[in-house]
This record gives sequence, C-alpha cells and structure tokens, in this order.
Amino acid sequence: MLSIKLANQTKVPALGLGVWQASPEDCYRAVRHALSIGYRRIDTARAYRNEADVGRAIRDSGLQRSEIFVTTKLWNEHQGYDQALQAFDRSLKDLGLEFIDLYLIHFPVRGKRLESWRALQSLLQGGRVKNIGVSNFMIPHLQELLAHSDSVPVVNQVEFHPFLYQRELLEFCQKQRIQLEAYSPLAQGRKFDHPVLLELSRQHQKSPAQIMIRWALDKNLMVIPKSVTPARISENFAVFDFHLSPADLEKLDQLNCGFRTCWDPTQEP
Ligand code: NDP
Repeated sequence: MLSIKLANQTKVPALGLGVWQASPEDCYRAVRHALSIGYRRIDTARAYRNEADVGRAIRDSGLQRSEIFVTTKLWNEHQGYDQALQAFDRSLKDLGLEFIDLYLIHFPVRGKRLESWRALQSLLQGGRVKNIGVSNFMIPHLQELLAHSDSVPVVNQVEFHPFLYQRELLEFCQKQRIQLEAYSPLAQGRKFDHPVLLELSRQHQKSPAQIMIRWALDKNLMVIPKSVTPARISENFAVFDFHLSPADLEKLDQLNCGFRTCWDPTQEP
C-alpha cells in the first residue's frame, strides 16, 4: 500500500475510505469491507453522525488499532476553544478509541478558527490526538493561521479532482509542507461520462473512478473516495497496478473548470 510521509514524519496510507452520507448501517458494512480488503485509513467527521459505527467496525475487524489511521473533524457549531475541547472528547468517546490519528478543523469558520486551532494544539500536547490539521482552508485562511501560530497544520483536506484542480493551493501547501488531501476525489461521480475519462479508461482498462483516484495518487495527494457499495470499495482500491503517463496526467489537468460538488470555502472571509 502506497504511503505518504507528513511533515512530522508520520506515515499515512495514501488511500482511505470516506464515509460522508453513509447511514450508520451502511457505514459499518463499508468500513468492515474496506478493512477486510486492505484499506487502512478511514475518514469520518462529527457531522457525518457515524463515528460510533466507524469505531465499532474497527473493533470488530480484528485488526490492531495501530494498523488503522482514523481521521475525524471538529464541526462548525463546536468551534471555539472550550467547545472544541469538549467536541473532541465526544468524538473520541463515540469512536470508542483511545486516540485519534488526525483531527481536522472541518471548515474555516470566521471569528472561531484561530481559537479552534489553539484547542487542537493543546489536544496534540495531551497526546490523545497524534496529528492535527485543517479542512477547506484556502490560501488566505492558511496565511492567517500561519501568521498567528507557531505550528503548521500537517494536512489540509479540500475538494480536489481534475475538474477542480486547485494548482495554486497545492503549490502553496507544498511550500509550507502541508499535505493536501483530496475530498470528493470522484467529483461525486458527476463527470464519469467525460470523453477524456472514457478515453483513458479504455486505454488503461480501468474505470473512470480508478483513473481519477490514480490522478490524485500521482500528484502525491492523500485521497478518500467514498462508497458504501462493496464492489466499488474494492474497485477504488485496485489502483496500484497501473500508472498514468505524463501525457495522460496533462490531459486530466486540462479538465479543470472550477467544478465544485461541495461547499465553497473561497466565500468564507
Ligand atoms: P466522492 O467523490 O468520493 O464520490 C462518492 C460517490 O461516488 C458516491 O455516490 C458513491 O456511490 C459513488 N462511487 C464511489 N465509487 C464509485 C465507483 N467506483 N463507480 C461509480 N460510482 C462510485 O464523494 P464524497 O463527497 O463522498 O467525498 C469523499 C469523502 O471525502 C467523503 O466521504 C468524506 O469522507 C470526505 N469529504 C470531506 C469534506 C470536507 O468538508 N472535509 C466534504 C466532502 C467530502 P455509493 O456510495 O452509492 O457506492
């Protein structure tokens, strides 16, 4: 399994399973299936209301806790210093884990995000979270954070796929040694019929989803496709036996059209 080294030297599986919009039962089954075929990283959030199911699936998997990398996120209405500390405790309790591998500020809520970051820093000191980072932070949000903090988030999770190729943000994060993580890496399946994806799909004998995941991996991104369908969870993991050529990557890069499937953090002052 391909792994990525964060700035603090933590090794993270490059590919993980996302569980947004997965009902508790679907989430449990999806995580069990994913872990049984080799996934070792799960991305949940307080807001997804399935932390307990992720935790139960991990416990039932029979794998060692240390083999699995778990991310969860601080929800918007729990931002602020004290609220964030309390929210973390609730997430940890619902997950039923002793520690979380990566805790992210879900969204750069104005007036709250710096206090939330301070809380994450103190949680990191406490040892019950191993890595802290942010999500949906655009360059101005990151610049503000870096100006007010002596520690750098190790990860920034943002929407990222060929149709939303945020090259400037990626370069900024690379310079600051912030690992970029691609969410909605399949553009939620809404562009699978694009002629370029279909052409590469034929050429490599891989599905459009696999082409999109490989594009993210070839850019050294962490990537978290979501599916609750066992066959698709397996398909999305079968991406380590082929490579896209520089010309293929260039074709995919050209698809950028600013297409967002999720919320738009560029509007958050
Ligand atoms: P994705 O781009 O991962 O697409 C998921 C959709 O594609 C689902 O409808 C799924 O269907 C379908 N799908 C998955 N694999 C295949 C396949 N091989 N062939 C055909 N269809 C497929 O969307 P998400 O928005 O869910 O993003 C992924 C993860 O990123 C989330 O689950 C979450 O963990 C994270 N995220 C984080 C956000 C943030 O603000 N930090 C915001 C959005 C997402 P089905 O499940 O029915 O199989």
